[in-house]
Amino acid sequence: MIDTDLMLYVHIPFCVRKCAYCDFLSAPAGDAVREQYVEELCREIADYKGKAGHRPVSSVFFGGGTPSLLTGEQMSRILDTIRNCFTLTEDAEISMEMNPGTVTMENLVQYKAAGVGRISIGLQSMQEEELSLLGRIHDAHTFLECYEMARKAGFSNINVDLMMGLPGQKREALADTLKKVTDLSPEHISLYSLILEEHTPLYETYADSDKLLSQEEDRALYHMAVAMLEEKGYHQYEISNFAKEGFFCRHNEGYWRRRPYLSFGIGAASFFEEVRWNNTSSLSDYLAGDHAPADQEILTLKDAMEEFMFLGLRTTAGICRETFEEAFEEDYETVYGEVTRKLIAQGLLQEREEGGKHFVSCTGEGLDLNNLVGGAFLLEDGE
Ligand code: SF4
Repeated sequence: MIDTDLMLYVHIPFCVRKCAYCDFLSAPAGDAVREQYVEELCREIADYKGKAGHRPVSSVFFGGGTPSLLTGEQMSRILDTIRNCFTLTEDAEISMEMNPGTVTMENLVQYKAAGVGRISIGLQSMQEEELSLLGRIHDAHTFLECYEMARKAGFSNINVDLMMGLPGQKREALADTLKKVTDLSPEHISLYSLILEEHTPLYETYADSDKLLSQEEDRALYHMAVAMLEEKGYHQYEISNFAKEGFFCRHNEGYWRRRPYLSFGIGAASFFEEVRWNNTSSLSDYLAGDHAPADQEILTLKDAMEEFMFLGLRTTAGICRETFEEAFEEDYETVYGEVTRKLIAQGLLQEREEGGKHFVSCTGEGLDLNNLVGGAFLLEDGE
């Protein structure tokens, strides 16, 4: 495999309260549990000291949950532990997710001083009725205050997370949210379609409701959003991710390019030297010192080639045939030539040459049917 930098992910599983659609590993917790967790995180990170070889760390991502429930001092302690145990590149991207309603100016200044350079604010919508349907703790005004404070604290790389495809969502409502957000000019916008997860209050309310959007309605909203964002100077670089020039999220790019990552905290998923594993999802076990992989999968060459294709084809840049050949020492044409030609003939894939290299990427229709396209690259056993 190609030698690359390492990425780190830190999971902070605490939230003020559970949102109506959420099935992530997160729950409310008091100060004492949060402090215990931070201590345990630092211990887990220290366990990896010297185990990642010579690989420098080029990105660190704090996700959740709600990382902004940590104090500035706690963030600083975790980042200091990371710096003591790994070598960060000079320009390492250090991101943290935050939720409006959990942020103070003091904390923002401390996060910045601790080394956080990129923040991702979970807005979801500027429409009060949509925020309340989603069970978010904030309103649009709280988001605006949070955004303004972040700018004042000196953050010049901000992502805003949005959600679309909500039950009964009108085109005008999404357009209004997009207009209000792009008027603020954040560097990056993520726009995810709502997935109605079983066992969530939103599922119980809407699973059988005629308010759920049809596939066609959802796609029409998405196409409108992509066009609006492109027009405002946000380049779509992945199905759900849009950025101004120079502000693609390095961490997310790393996932789609199969760069290795170590993850810390409960339920955290790691990928290193072609092995994927997950931490325990039990908070009490984790706090008692259980850092061992709860499960582990050793990827075969076939698994790795399939992943390279279906993750890479989520990006608008697509995959590079020469990189595939260098990574796997296999001829692209022999492994995937036929299926690539078939999907090009169906209008789902396209090819281009750039700098002497050959790329394959999804067309607009291919991005819409990304699961189907990705599925076409699954190989028969023994292939
Ligand atoms: S803030 Fe995010 S992680 Fe927390 S409950 Fe809401 S959706 Fe889930």
